[in-house]
Amino acid sequence: MDPLILLVEDEEHLARGLCFNLEAEGYVVERFETGEAVLERLGQHESPAADLMVLDIMLPGMSGIEVLRMLRKAGNELPILLLTACSRDEEIVDGLDSGADDYLTKPFALSVLKARVRGLLRRYTREGNGTVLLAPFRIGETTVVPERFEIERAGQVMPLTAKELGLLQLLQIRRGRAVSRGEILEQVWELDPGTHTRVVDTFVSRLRKMIEPDPSRPCFLLSVRSFGYRLVEG
Ligand code: CA
Repeated sequence: MDPLILLVEDEEHLARGLCFNLEAEGYVVERFETGEAVLERLGQHESPAADLMVLDIMLPGMSGIEVLRMLRKAGNELPILLLTACSRDEEIVDGLDSGADDYLTKPFALSVLKARVRGLLRRYTREGNGTVLLAPFRIGETTVVPERFEIERAGQVMPLTAKELGLLQLLQIRRGRAVSRGEILEQVWELDPGTHTRVVDTFVSRLRKMIEPDPSRPCFLLSVRSFGYRLVEG
């Protein structure tokens, strides 16, 4: 089955270009002009399940951020790539804190969009800098398999998004040493290290649910108070 992408973009010209290019990559694209329309589509359980949403922030009616918040509040974990019209850090941070998996600032190169989409679909690594591919590594009873964007634990396989994997890889490279929040923001999210956001902590709690026997009392992915995080030595 070809991956199904929901594209939410009201600008006709851009939306048509994106559809054309994503379809040329072998994806199936359903296009929506408003947040309301895509939410209605997601509410119809008989429709095929989507693999990814590309969501513009500036939409008529509900904004992309509102759509994102509603979905996450409802427990929908569809990977979401946000499109933002400006590179204002506040808007990006707002998006990430609301549960976006990644973002792109307009105007963007199509090659970058395609690379981000591939990363979010967990099939390939991201192009350019950012995620470093590593051999599979173990954290306690869990095995992280970077080339498949997967984590295995007790015979169960769970998918990882590009950012979840990027964070685990950074901690693995520095294994045993503390990594600051600022460095994580810079390396994994390409944000200014001083950016005020809870995104790192949100992702750490998601990862703990996957790797810790008791996520409320972590023994592998430890907090380093007022600084950042550390992965215990393997
Ligand atoms: Ca728009």
